[in-house]
Amino acid sequence: MAEYITTIGLEIHAQIRTASKMFDNCSADYAKSNPNTRVSVVSMGFPGSLPVTNRRAVELAAVTGLALNCGVNHHSVFARKSYPYPDLPKGYQITQYEEPLCSDGWIEIMDDNDNPKRIGIERLHIEEDTGRLLHAGDNSSLIDYNRSGVPLMEIVTRPDITSPEEAKRCFQKIRQILTWIDVNSGNMDEGALRCDANVSVRLRDQANFGAKVEIKNINSFRFVERALTYEIQRQIGALEAGDTIIQETRGWNETLNKTVSQRTKEFADDYRYFPEPDIPPLLFDDAWVEARRAELPELPDAHRARFESAYELSCQDADLLTGERAVADYYETAVEAVRAVGASAKEAANWILGELFRLINDDGVSSDQMAVRMPPQHIATVIDLVAKGTITRTVAKQVFEESYRNGIDPARIVADKGLTQISDTDALATLAREILASDNAAKAVAEYRKGKTSAIQFLIGQMMKAIGYDITRMDMVDKRYD
Ligand code: ADP
Ligand code: MG
Repeated sequence: MAEYITTIGLEIHAQIRTASKMFDNCSADYAKSNPNTRVSVVSMGFPGSLPVTNRRAVELAAVTGLALNCGVNHHSVFARKSYPYPDLPKGYQITQYEEPLCSDGWIEIMDDNDNPKRIGIERLHIEEDTGRLLHAGDNSSLIDYNRSGVPLMEIVTRPDITSPEEAKRCFQKIRQILTWIDVNSGNMDEGALRCDANVSVRLRDQANFGAKVEIKNINSFRFVERALTYEIQRQIGALEAGDTIIQETRGWNETLNKTVSQRTKEFADDYRYFPEPDIPPLLFDDAWVEARRAELPELPDAHRARFESAYELSCQDADLLTGERAVADYYETAVEAVRAVGASAKEAANWILGELFRLINDDGVSSDQMAVRMPPQHIATVIDLVAKGTITRTVAKQVFEESYRNGIDPARIVADKGLTQISDTDALATLAREILASDNAAKAVAEYRKGKTSAIQFLIGQMMKAIGYDITRMDMVDKRYD
């Protein structure tokens, strides 16, 4: 079969986290409210109502553009995009078209050979979200306008992506950056972040891109990968069979595990774009843009690089510790705490990545709850108890878990349960001799002497019993703390 090249570009819609909607002071807190309780004359599109631009939403969109290495345009305008659909009460959506707020940025992802690769960001523009249609079982539909007018950004990548895996990583990277700077909740189930994927294939020696198909409203990382993998195979299959690909919009049907045609793609002309006459252009000077830049925290990639060099972490560990900002912040607090007891930042990383991640993943605890469940100071205490020889590493892991479960200071758990390791070796040697000389041990001693080395397990058990060191007890919930 001939060799095909895949071309992919993503259009990501991200709600902007503001208290009010994009063009009026109606609350944007739509998700947890009863239907049609977050509405106003503007978000319902009543005739004569006038939109007023939400300043904070514009600022946050500009901050996002800068985080994606875009330039913020000194002049940008809103436009009306007309289409008739019940979730759009005005009959048009206010968006930006010819002059977006931000353009020409990039993000860096790992390509399929694990090399860094830049994906261009063509533009970031502001628009308003639509209402939501709820389809009832009796073939009727209900409309909830709470989401109508919620601030939205659309981020458009250049067609620089060449595989479904890269597309997934690109979407993940954008989510990481947006949640990191706190402009978006990252909640894909609620639709606060969603992705349309454009894809085409062409023969390796063909100069021009093939006709693209847009797959709409993908709401998980897994589906981006699956939908694109399916669609690429479908397109190649069609071309091999002598068909032509038509530009169209398809949807990902997760039950059928395939993309299905929704409509042949409309072209820009169909939307009758024109400048929004009710909203003045956005005009910014350099000082305003620099003020937005000053709002940016250290971004994930820079953070990861600093973790690697400052804390001597592997690239992989640094990556895991900067996946989310709450984790990175938690780690830095833990580093301070462990350094105060003379331990290394690396050791804090080992406990967090090894034990804490396992525990919070099992319990489904979100990263912003980590510090509540396991104060970083408690990690420092566990490390210190091991370093001082008070407890062994094995006991430390169990103390760690217990402290995580009940919030009690690890030092208190050790003291209350008498888990202190006896480090007086003379005393231990005396005790060992007594055990070896006892009747109880005679059989095991004899077997051991005959070469059955496993008999020593019994003797170790006797020794542990004698010093009151009972590991199994640690697995049980201590009733004193209930
Ligand atoms: P439209 O006019 O349909 O909105 P654009 O040129 O603005 O198309 O591109 C929309 C998205 O599709 C962008 O993410 C872009 O990178 C991507 N794209 C453009 N052309 C192709 C193509 N031939 N194959 C795959 N993706 C493409
Ligand atoms: Mg376009």
